[in-house]
Amino acid sequence: MPAKFEILTIPPENTNSVLMTVGNDAVIFDPWGHGDDWAKLLGERGLGLRAIYTTHGHGDHIAAAPALAMRYNVPWYLNAADAPLIKWSEGLLEYFGLPSIDKNTSTHLPAGQFEILPGAWADVISVPGHSAGGMAFYFRDSGILIIGDTLFATGVGRTDLPGGNQTALTETITRLMNMNFPDETFVIPGHGYASTWGEMRRVNPYIHSVCGCGYGQNSCTCHHEHAGPGSDHKHSCQYHK
Ligand SMILES: [Zn+2]
Ligand SMILES: [Zn+2]
Repeated sequence: MPAKFEILTIPPENTNSVLMTVGNDAVIFDPWGHGDDWAKLLGERGLGLRAIYTTHGHGDHIAAAPALAMRYNVPWYLNAADAPLIKWSEGLLEYFGLPSIDKNTSTHLPAGQFEILPGAWADVISVPGHSAGGMAFYFRDSGILIIGDTLFATGVGRTDLPGGNQTALTETITRLMNMNFPDETFVIPGHGYASTWGEMRRVNPYIHSVCGCGYGQNSCTCHHEHAGPGSDHKHSCQYHK
């Protein structure tokens, strides 16, 4: 049975959460909002929650994780390097009127290959930079990449928040580019609209700044395939053939 993925923006709308299902089995990535709203949704759809995965430890990605983990007695996975961020989430959750998280109930999520739901495997990829323990989830068979706040459709995650590191983020983006995801891969970021890897490689200036092709740094207007007038960087960029 193929896995289904749905982007949900639960009130108070802020973050892209992802509901993944195989049949009636479900997992949630980055459960924003109130646990009660998720419980209602799962109940209405007759879904059984099997686990919660979080791309990183910022409050806007873990808000409902502890409540749901307790309610359904399922693990909440978070890379241990981000556990110290949980405490820092208090102010943000308070701002949005969400319950604070006073202790770490997460289970360490390492990089590797995991069967997230029966028959649905993900490459769990370490993507430090926006935070130290950032993780992305690549479902090769479904062509889905859940990338948290590492990259957005046309932007990049901040590195000035706790756990952020600009050098690490640059290395992460380089590594992601070298993974050569198919252009049609559907990329779901933590905020804003989803895109495809091919479109992001074409228009995202942070990808271009890492690859050194110049687009985004010198207002080059010939970025499409890098074949426009005066585009002598067409052949200098290994990522934009
Ligand atoms: Zn974040
Ligand atoms: Zn975020």
